[in-house]
Amino acid sequence: MPGHGMTSFLVDGAVALDAGWVSGALALEDQVKVKDILISHSHLDHTCTLPFLIDNNFSTPGFSLRIYAIPEVIASMKNHLFNNQTWPDFTSLPDDLSPVLKFVEIAPESPFVVNGLTIRAVPVNHVGPTTGFIVEDRDGAIAFSSDTGPTHRFWELANGVEKLRAVITETSFPNRQQELATKSGHHTPQTLAEELRKLERDVPVYLYGAKPKFLDEIKREVKALKNGRLQFLVQGRTYEF
Ligand SMILES: [Zn+2]
Repeated sequence: MPGHGMTSFLVDGAVALDAGWVSGALALEDQVKVKDILISHSHLDHTCTLPFLIDNNFSTPGFSLRIYAIPEVIASMKNHLFNNQTWPDFTSLPDDLSPVLKFVEIAPESPFVVNGLTIRAVPVNHVGPTTGFIVEDRDGAIAFSSDTGPTHRFWELANGVEKLRAVITETSFPNRQQELATKSGHHTPQTLAEELRKLERDVPVYLYGAKPKFLDEIKREVKALKNGRLQFLVQGRTYEF
């Protein structure tokens, strides 16, 4: 929908958290600089630009992508996306020895380093296997919950990150759709308010994920929480932490 892209965050111009909007947001010369993509879960609004990102840049010299996710999420992308039916299996193209796409399995809570960032995946509460990511560099850290309803470990780990500068989490539905939010593993403003009691750190909390149809209603309900830490992310904007 115009003005409402799906979910991606680009860190330092080279590492993407999720791929719902990479090719939609970046010019070709910037797309090719993205080498590493962390995928929180296989839902289309977090993966749907991967095929086009690869297609756009396939023949560009030096282009290749590493995709990091927990094994369940990689299996889902292999079985349902890069399966030669929905889209070609780019893990064997142009050939098996130097494919443009490599999957890298990560283990929950085990730190790994990508482009100078130390990252941990943390399982959260969504439909289908999903992790958030805690991303740290020398100067700061952010905690991205990805799609989730009420969860615990993510907040516990985020609280323990000394350099935490910001949290990114979601609010997908208005309060009147609580049942749907609960069933689908998402937040409403009221469950978000409960959730934020678990955050012991005084950092800004950025929100994404509001269904465009309910955006105004969700914004009203979030405003009514009178929590000065909460802000809605703006698509296309660059944030410094
Ligand atoms: Zn999802």
